[in-house]
Amino acid sequence: MLLVCSSRCGGGLFRALFAEVDLDAGGAYQDHRVTQPGYVCLNCGAPAFDLGEVPSEMAAEDEADAAPTTTDILCPVCESLVQVDAGMECPNCGAPLEVA
Ligand SMILES: [Zn+2]
Ligand SMILES: [Zn+2]
Repeated sequence: MLLVCSSRCGGGLFRALFAEVDLDAGGAYQDHRVTQPGYVCLNCGAPAFDLGEVPSEMAAEDEADAAPTTTDILCPVCESLVQVDAGMECPNCGAPLEVA
């Protein structure tokens, strides 16, 4: 987990908004669990984000982006019709190809 203030005020303290705190009979803190992600900056009151969750979300997007996007283009060097991903070389002659 890596919490950051959405206002970037530099505050380093945050409060979980939807945490359930377990107490013993005397009111001493025992444990807590966050029932729903949600944090607020204690310095300025702005919502805070958990940057620790971003990489996995971005990875999910990357996987979606990684769906096959091959394109049929005519190699300008060997003049064969080749199917390539963006940024690939011609499989026949190795010429760099620009996929429009
Ligand atoms: Zn703040
Ligand atoms: Zn070629």
